[in-house]
Amino acid sequence: MMKTNLYYIGLGAFIFFQSCTGMLPNDKSNFKDTMSLDTAQYNTLHKEYKESRLVNRRFKHDDIEALISKHEEQGVLEVHEVGKSFEDRAIYKLQYGRGEKKVMLWSQMHGDEPTATMALFDLFNFLEGNADGYDSIRTLLQENLQLHFIPLLNPDGAERYTRKNAQYIDLNRDAREGESVEGGLLRTLAKEIKPSYGFNLHDQMIYYNVPGTKNPVTISVLAPAYNVEREVNRVRKGAMQLIVGMNNLLQQYVPNAVAKYDDTYSPRGFGDNFQSWGASTVLIESGGLKGDPEKQEIRKFNFAIILQALIEIAEGSYQKYDYEDYNQIPFNTSQLHDLVIRNLDISTDRASLITDIAIRRTETTVGKDFFVRGHVEDIGDLADFYGYDDIDASGLSFVEGKTYPQVFESVDMISQDRALELLNQGYIAVKVNKQGANVLHNLPLVIVTDTEFTATTEIVPYGSSNFFLGSKGNLKYAIVNGYVIDLDSNTVETLYKNRVI
Ligand SMILES: [Zn+2]
Repeated sequence: MMKTNLYYIGLGAFIFFQSCTGMLPNDKSNFKDTMSLDTAQYNTLHKEYKESRLVNRRFKHDDIEALISKHEEQGVLEVHEVGKSFEDRAIYKLQYGRGEKKVMLWSQMHGDEPTATMALFDLFNFLEGNADGYDSIRTLLQENLQLHFIPLLNPDGAERYTRKNAQYIDLNRDAREGESVEGGLLRTLAKEIKPSYGFNLHDQMIYYNVPGTKNPVTISVLAPAYNVEREVNRVRKGAMQLIVGMNNLLQQYVPNAVAKYDDTYSPRGFGDNFQSWGASTVLIESGGLKGDPEKQEIRKFNFAIILQALIEIAEGSYQKYDYEDYNQIPFNTSQLHDLVIRNLDISTDRASLITDIAIRRTETTVGKDFFVRGHVEDIGDLADFYGYDDIDASGLSFVEGKTYPQVFESVDMISQDRALELLNQGYIAVKVNKQGANVLHNLPLVIVTDTEFTATTEIVPYGSSNFFLGSKGNLKYAIVNGYVIDLDSNTVETLYKNRVI
């Protein structure tokens, strides 16, 4: 519980919040509220200014360097190299505006959390735009704010697509000590800039859902605590108000798909420390959205909510929001899987069993691309769990997949249509003589070279997920590497991220 005491004084002109960090007045009367945009306008802006050179999540430092050069040449944003990563990759700060309110925004301190970095580059393009009907927004931001952007704080992690830096440090556990190269840099910059507002930009796992719903959490937010008691002072209240505004906008994009991140005080975390250093700090975690594996829609939502928050900081208009509405946003819960198969008959000779199965697909990075490995995550009564794909297999049984007897020359010889044909005939695996142009492929099949394919013969925890669901010799679904293919619909709906084994 919050221990905040709320005092209404006199005519109600001021609200005082008492906390261990002091009492500060908050004047609600002095802000202009003229510039807010709607989702259609944000969509138009994002379409216009989306950075076309960033198209998926596994961009690297060299992609960013090229963009930094472009922005340096434009001369609208001031570009500074503020340091080097442990492995000597340059870290940049881009600065915009000459106003009094200082805002720091940093992204990708976890190398495998890139969504907001893409959105920041979209935002840079917007700031460099002109004569599009939105110059008044740019003027507002420029005159009232001093924006300090640090995109891709952890370039070494991004190179490997890992959370930690090259010294194996989780930068978000290094705010207190600043021992890592990049964590130390962010800490130093915060002390130099002394921002009044902070944006701590991350991605969270895609398996969080909004409690009581099957909806993936598309964005989670947090006004991090500055003490164990999670008290609310003026600084944290500002972050809460900004979040109320962001949530209002997000609800229009993705209703009931916003949650709060765990608000336990984390003394080593940057968000918590920025809050205690006096910056109203907002954590944005990009989560999951069905049909958006590369998070390009979520990137747009980041663009919209960050731009809206900046407009509202510039105007002071975020103070119109009731900070208590922040408490209405539910916390993340973790009941989601990539695929849930319900009521499947997996009886064996020894016992009959009709139950539910959950499958997840974990990603492995290959250069700037990736493949997945689908595995059985859970077996049993999963009535309280949900799947991005969720199928009722009542009346269906587990059917083992077969390997096609003929060997193809390479994976490039097999079309999507042919793959579906093979699945319909009960073949889940195909042998090829050689790999083809790429070790990765997008077919809904298990493709093997010299490895002997072993079909999934039974459903076991962490086991493979290559099998069929059928009834009386009719195959209804293929489960290939954790992806579900509806064999009746006979269409390919997903870009399968598989590899030649
Ligand atoms: Zn993170």
